[in-house]
Order: sequence, then C-alpha cells, then structure tokens
Amino acid sequence: MKNEKKIREIATERIEILSHFALDILNGKGITKNEEYAHKYLKYAKEIKSHYKIKKSALDKIKICKFCNIIFIPGKNCSVVISSSKRFVIYKCNKCSNEFKIHY
Ligand SMILES: [Zn+2]
Repeated sequence: MKNEKKIREIATERIEILSHFALDILNGKGITKNEEYAHKYLKYAKEIKSHYKIKKSALDKIKICKFCNIIFIPGKNCSVVISSSKRFVIYKCNKCSNEFKIHY
C-alpha cells in the first residue's frame, strides 16, 4: 500500500514536469525550439497518466487537441471564439480544424 501511494506521487510529479517542459518549448522559453519535443513530452505524460490510472494531474489544466495531440496556444495554433449568449468558449484547432466547446 505504501509503495503504491509513493509510485503515484512520483508519477503525478513526472506528469507535471513533462507538461511544464512542453509548455516552455511551445512558448519559446525551453532548451530547444523544436516543437516535436513538446508533442513527445505530452505523449509520455499521457502514457504515464493512463498507466498509473491517475485521475487529477497537471494535464487537466492544459487544453489539448484530442485528434492531433497539440497543446492549444491562442493566436499561435488555435483560434478562440467566445459566445456570450450561449455561454461557451470555442477552441478551434488550426491543424485539423476540429472545434472544442467549453461551457462556463
Ligand atoms: Zn487538432
């Protein structure tokens, strides 16, 4: 029981570190500017999350395209439209042009 708890703690920490690395690279603050590394880090973080069955992680705070595994950065790789009458925000991916609606 104790080991399982520690393993999950380490896994959540690794997910947080990997998502931070990916975000830094996409914002131009990372070690490299190659965006493929960001997608690789995101893929590893998702694999860790599914393998250890972690429910809450740092990945929940980041908006990701489900089809092409890209972190949404408004103005760079996605467009954001706010519909105040229907009370939702639409994120549209520039690569695969799929839309994701988030209610508020
Ligand atoms: Zn996409």
